[in-house]
Amino acid sequence: MRVGVLALQGAFIEHRQRLHSLGVESFEIRQRKHLDQPIDALILPGGESTTMGRLLKDLDLFTPIQNLIRQGLPTLGTCAGMILMAEKITDESYHYFQTLPIEVTRNFYGRQLGSFFQETRLDGNLIDMVFIRAPIVKQAYQGVNVLLKVDGNIVAVNYHNQIGLSFHPELGKTPFFHQRLIDLAKAR
Ligand code: GLN
Repeated sequence: MRVGVLALQGAFIEHRQRLHSLGVESFEIRQRKHLDQPIDALILPGGESTTMGRLLKDLDLFTPIQNLIRQGLPTLGTCAGMILMAEKITDESYHYFQTLPIEVTRNFYGRQLGSFFQETRLDGNLIDMVFIRAPIVKQAYQGVNVLLKVDGNIVAVNYHNQIGLSFHPELGKTPFFHQRLIDLAKAR
Protein backbone atom coordinates (compact mmCIF):
# COMPACT_ATOMS: atom_id res chain seq x y z
CA MET A 1 0.00 0.00 0.00
CA ARG A 2 1.38 3.38 -1.03
CA VAL A 3 -0.37 6.66 -0.39
CA GLY A 4 0.46 9.77 -2.41
CA VAL A 5 0.36 13.02 -0.46
CA LEU A 6 0.05 16.27 -2.39
CA ALA A 7 3.05 18.25 -1.17
CA LEU A 8 2.91 21.61 -2.93
CA GLN A 9 2.18 23.62 0.19
CA GLY A 10 0.56 23.29 3.59
CA ALA A 11 0.35 20.51 6.17
CA PHE A 12 1.57 17.45 4.28
CA ILE A 13 4.42 16.30 6.57
CA GLU A 14 2.04 15.52 9.44
CA HIS A 15 -0.08 13.38 7.11
CA ARG A 16 2.99 11.35 6.15
CA GLN A 17 3.94 10.95 9.81
CA ARG A 18 0.45 9.72 10.64
CA LEU A 19 0.56 7.20 7.79
CA HIS A 20 4.00 6.06 8.92
CA SER A 21 2.68 5.50 12.45
CA LEU A 22 0.00 3.26 10.92
CA GLY A 23 2.67 1.28 9.07
CA VAL A 24 1.72 2.66 5.67
CA GLU A 25 4.21 3.89 3.08
CA SER A 26 3.70 7.30 1.50
CA PHE A 27 5.31 9.53 -1.10
CA GLU A 28 5.12 13.22 -1.94
CA ILE A 29 3.48 14.52 -5.09
CA ARG A 30 5.24 17.70 -6.18
CA GLN A 31 5.68 17.20 -9.90
CA ARG A 32 3.93 15.41 -12.73
CA LYS A 33 6.55 12.63 -12.77
CA HIS A 34 5.68 11.67 -9.18
CA LEU A 35 2.40 10.29 -10.50
CA ASP A 36 4.26 7.78 -12.69
CA GLN A 37 4.26 5.21 -9.90
CA PRO A 38 1.67 2.95 -8.29
CA ILE A 39 -0.72 4.83 -6.04
CA ASP A 40 -3.36 3.23 -3.79
CA ALA A 41 -4.78 6.33 -2.11
CA LEU A 42 -4.37 10.10 -2.16
CA ILE A 43 -4.31 12.82 0.49
CA LEU A 44 -5.01 16.46 -0.36
CA PRO A 45 -3.81 18.35 2.73
CA GLY A 46 -4.82 21.60 4.35
CA GLY A 47 -3.14 24.85 3.48
CA GLU A 48 -4.36 27.58 1.16
CA SER A 49 -6.70 26.29 -1.51
CA THR A 50 -6.16 29.19 -3.93
CA THR A 51 -2.38 28.71 -3.81
CA MET A 52 -2.63 24.95 -4.19
CA GLY A 53 -5.14 25.32 -7.02
CA ARG A 54 -2.82 27.64 -8.91
CA LEU A 55 0.22 25.40 -8.38
CA LEU A 56 -1.72 22.31 -9.47
CA LYS A 57 -2.43 23.97 -12.80
CA ASP A 58 1.04 25.50 -13.25
CA LEU A 59 2.67 22.13 -12.59
CA ASP A 60 0.32 20.15 -14.89
CA LEU A 61 -0.93 18.13 -11.94
CA PHE A 62 -4.51 19.29 -12.08
CA THR A 63 -6.01 17.06 -14.78
CA PRO A 64 -4.08 13.87 -13.88
CA ILE A 65 -5.17 14.12 -10.23
CA GLN A 66 -8.75 14.99 -11.16
CA ASN A 67 -8.83 11.90 -13.38
CA LEU A 68 -7.43 9.65 -10.64
CA ILE A 69 -10.15 10.80 -8.23
CA ARG A 70 -12.86 10.41 -10.88
CA GLN A 71 -11.61 6.90 -11.59
CA GLY A 72 -12.19 5.96 -7.95
CA LEU A 73 -8.85 6.48 -6.23
CA PRO A 74 -9.59 6.64 -2.47
CA THR A 75 -8.98 10.28 -1.55
CA LEU A 76 -8.91 12.15 1.76
CA GLY A 77 -9.22 15.93 1.45
CA THR A 78 -8.68 17.91 4.63
CA CYS A 79 -9.63 21.56 4.99
CA ALA A 80 -8.17 23.27 1.88
CA GLY A 81 -8.00 19.78 0.37
CA MET A 82 -11.76 19.43 0.72
CA ILE A 83 -12.21 22.85 -0.91
CA LEU A 84 -10.21 21.55 -3.89
CA MET A 85 -12.65 18.64 -4.26
CA ALA A 86 -15.88 20.62 -3.84
CA GLU A 87 -18.35 21.06 -6.66
CA LYS A 88 -19.16 24.62 -5.56
CA ILE A 89 -17.53 27.31 -3.39
CA THR A 90 -19.96 29.77 -1.79
CA ASP A 91 -19.95 33.24 -3.36
CA GLU A 92 -17.12 32.34 -5.73
CA SER A 93 -17.16 31.69 -9.46
CA TYR A 94 -14.01 29.55 -9.37
CA HIS A 95 -13.79 25.91 -8.44
CA TYR A 96 -11.23 23.12 -8.68
CA PHE A 97 -11.62 19.34 -9.15
CA GLN A 98 -15.40 19.31 -8.61
CA THR A 99 -15.34 15.60 -7.81
CA LEU A 100 -17.24 15.87 -4.51
CA PRO A 101 -20.89 17.03 -4.73
CA ILE A 102 -20.86 19.56 -1.93
CA GLU A 103 -20.92 23.32 -1.54
CA VAL A 104 -18.21 24.61 0.82
CA THR A 105 -17.97 27.98 2.50
CA ARG A 106 -14.35 29.05 2.97
CA ASN A 107 -13.10 30.61 6.21
CA PHE A 108 -16.48 30.02 7.79
CA TYR A 109 -15.25 30.77 11.32
CA GLY A 110 -13.31 33.88 10.31
CA ARG A 111 -9.82 34.37 8.99
CA GLN A 112 -7.81 35.37 12.03
CA LEU A 113 -9.27 33.92 15.20
CA GLY A 114 -10.99 31.07 13.44
CA SER A 115 -8.93 28.26 14.98
CA PHE A 116 -10.31 25.98 17.67
CA PHE A 117 -10.42 22.46 18.98
CA GLN A 118 -13.40 20.21 19.61
CA GLU A 119 -14.09 16.58 20.42
CA THR A 120 -16.89 14.35 19.26
CA ARG A 121 -17.65 10.67 18.68
CA LEU A 122 -18.18 8.71 15.48
CA ASP A 123 -19.04 5.01 15.36
CA GLY A 124 -18.01 4.75 19.02
CA ASN A 125 -14.61 6.38 18.38
CA LEU A 126 -13.40 9.58 19.98
CA ILE A 127 -12.58 12.13 17.26
CA ASP A 128 -10.57 15.21 18.15
CA MET A 129 -10.95 17.97 15.60
CA VAL A 130 -8.47 20.79 15.02
CA PHE A 131 -10.04 23.61 12.99
CA ILE A 132 -7.74 26.19 11.35
CA ARG A 133 -9.47 28.90 9.28
CA ALA A 134 -11.74 26.07 8.35
CA PRO A 135 -14.41 25.74 5.69
CA ILE A 136 -17.75 24.12 6.40
CA VAL A 137 -19.95 22.10 4.10
CA LYS A 138 -22.88 24.40 3.41
CA GLN A 139 -24.72 21.83 1.36
CA ALA A 140 -24.23 18.12 0.79
CA TYR A 141 -25.85 17.13 -2.48
CA GLN A 142 -27.48 13.84 -3.35
CA GLY A 143 -25.58 10.72 -2.47
CA VAL A 144 -23.20 12.38 -0.02
CA ASN A 145 -23.01 10.76 3.40
CA VAL A 146 -22.79 13.31 6.24
CA LEU A 147 -20.46 11.93 8.94
CA LEU A 148 -20.07 14.76 11.45
CA LYS A 149 -21.63 18.08 12.36
CA VAL A 150 -20.47 20.79 14.78
CA ASP A 151 -23.17 23.17 16.01
CA GLY A 152 -25.37 22.07 13.15
CA ASN A 153 -22.68 22.63 10.50
CA ILE A 154 -21.42 19.71 8.43
CA VAL A 155 -17.69 19.13 8.95
CA ALA A 156 -17.13 15.59 7.61
CA VAL A 157 -18.54 13.84 4.55
CA ASN A 158 -18.03 10.67 2.57
CA TYR A 159 -18.97 10.15 -1.08
CA HIS A 160 -17.93 6.84 -2.62
CA ASN A 161 -14.11 6.97 -2.74
CA GLN A 162 -13.85 10.47 -1.28
CA ILE A 163 -13.68 11.71 2.31
CA GLY A 164 -13.85 15.45 2.96
CA LEU A 165 -13.06 17.01 6.34
CA SER A 166 -13.23 20.63 7.50
CA PHE A 167 -10.59 19.97 10.16
CA HIS A 168 -7.01 18.66 10.33
CA PRO A 169 -7.04 14.99 11.39
CA GLU A 170 -3.24 14.83 11.00
CA LEU A 171 -2.90 17.30 13.90
CA GLY A 172 -5.28 15.42 16.19
CA LYS A 173 -4.60 12.30 18.22
CA THR A 174 -6.95 9.87 16.56
CA PRO A 175 -5.97 8.07 13.34
CA PHE A 176 -9.63 7.36 12.55
CA PHE A 177 -9.87 9.04 9.13
CA HIS A 178 -6.44 7.94 7.93
CA GLN A 179 -7.45 4.40 8.85
CA ARG A 180 -10.71 4.85 6.97
CA LEU A 181 -8.78 5.94 3.86
CA ILE A 182 -6.55 2.87 4.17
CA ASP A 183 -9.63 0.67 4.55
CA LEU A 184 -11.12 2.18 1.38
CA ALA A 185 -7.87 1.45 -0.48
CA LYS A 186 -7.77 -2.13 0.80
CA ALA A 187 -11.38 -2.71 -0.25
CA ARG A 188 -10.78 -1.41 -3.77
N1 GLN B 1 -8.66 28.95 4.73
C1 GLN B 1 -8.02 28.00 3.86
C2 GLN B 1 -8.62 28.07 2.46
O1 GLN B 1 -9.68 28.63 2.28
C3 GLN B 1 -8.13 26.59 4.39
C4 GLN B 1 -7.42 26.50 5.72
C5 GLN B 1 -6.81 25.17 6.01
O2 GLN B 1 -6.61 24.34 5.13
N2 GLN B 1 -6.44 24.98 7.24
O3 GLN B 1 -8.05 27.58 1.54
